[in-house]
Amino acid sequence: MDESFRNWRIVAVRRLSEEQLRALSAIGHVDYFEDLTDDNRGDFHAAMQQADALIGGKLELDENLLAEASRLQVVSTISVGYDHLPMAALNRRGILVCHTPDVLTETTADTAFALVMATQRRVVELANLVREGRWTAHLGREHFGVDVHGKTLGIVGAGRIGAAIARRGALGFNMPILYTAGSPKPALERELGAQRRDLATLLAEADVVCLSVPYQADTHHLIDAEALSHMKASASLINVARGKVVDEAALIAALRRGQIRAAGLDVFEEEPLPAISPLAAMDNVVTTPHMGSATHETREAMAQLAVDNLIGALTGDGPLTAVNRDVWQRVPLLREAH
Ligand code: NAP
Repeated sequence: MDESFRNWRIVAVRRLSEEQLRALSAIGHVDYFEDLTDDNRGDFHAAMQQADALIGGKLELDENLLAEASRLQVVSTISVGYDHLPMAALNRRGILVCHTPDVLTETTADTAFALVMATQRRVVELANLVREGRWTAHLGREHFGVDVHGKTLGIVGAGRIGAAIARRGALGFNMPILYTAGSPKPALERELGAQRRDLATLLAEADVVCLSVPYQADTHHLIDAEALSHMKASASLINVARGKVVDEAALIAALRRGQIRAAGLDVFEEEPLPAISPLAAMDNVVTTPHMGSATHETREAMAQLAVDNLIGALTGDGPLTAVNRDVWQRVPLLREAH
């Protein structure tokens, strides 16, 4: 038998290909849940009690489930964000967490730019005129949008995705770039002439503001009523980060009173967005269903990276992209199992 086969118990949740499941089966026993429903949740909990490793998308791992999963050593999420995981408890338990950065960066930046174009040029609203048979005369001023090219693009969180959005703006649309981040980005400044600003100044100067920060304690409601009050009345807000980075009630109020012009939102405080949310019906808001990375190619690459991370963690090569790599160094259990 292969040395790396230790009959690991692996729980896999949501959207792995047959080939990926076969690769996991080569190192252990896999309990696969294509989706979690009321019917199979009991089986999922039973499997988690035996599990050494958990892999999947939209993982519903809270502290209660973690307490049940006494053997768990590795969590491999099919996402770059890990705000849905109880990181403090996972770190306390010395459980390795892996995520999928980089492979989704360009696709998520494409989504952000689709929202930039749609909000600035009112694409959805005007396309609906045609679809609904209301295109009965030449467009008048009341239907005009605003330009994208040449406008100032403000990136809140110039990390991997933020930088990719900035490149699209600067190189494709000749947009001056402003950014915020935890640390200066000299390479981005050299490459694109981007300039770092504090948040209030960026919000006051940008025509299009794109949010690409992680959701964490210091970014909860980063864009609240006060932040929105700094923005130009002609500006658009684009959010491909996480819903709770924005105070949605404050955003709705700002859009209603014309304090900002428009918003393009891929993420929401509650998902799926409740049908009764005013955001779903406002003409100056473009809403998409958390589709940032949702292309065939990128979802496949994310799942593959998550599988490679899990196999790397369990077979001794080490994970490729870990959130808490120090656990790999700190906890001998995984490394010395081989
Ligand atoms: P990343 O490379 O870690 O970039 C995050 C950036 O935010 C970094 O530049 C970081 O600064 C900066 N930052 C952190 N806290 C900040 C704060 N309080 N104020 C200003 N900037 C701050 O992550 P990424 O790969 O670009 O992903 C970003 C987020 O996008 C993910 O966490 C996820 O939630 C979201 N996302 C959404 C979708 C979707 O489907 N809509 C898809 C993918 C990702 P430093 O560089 O100094 O650390």
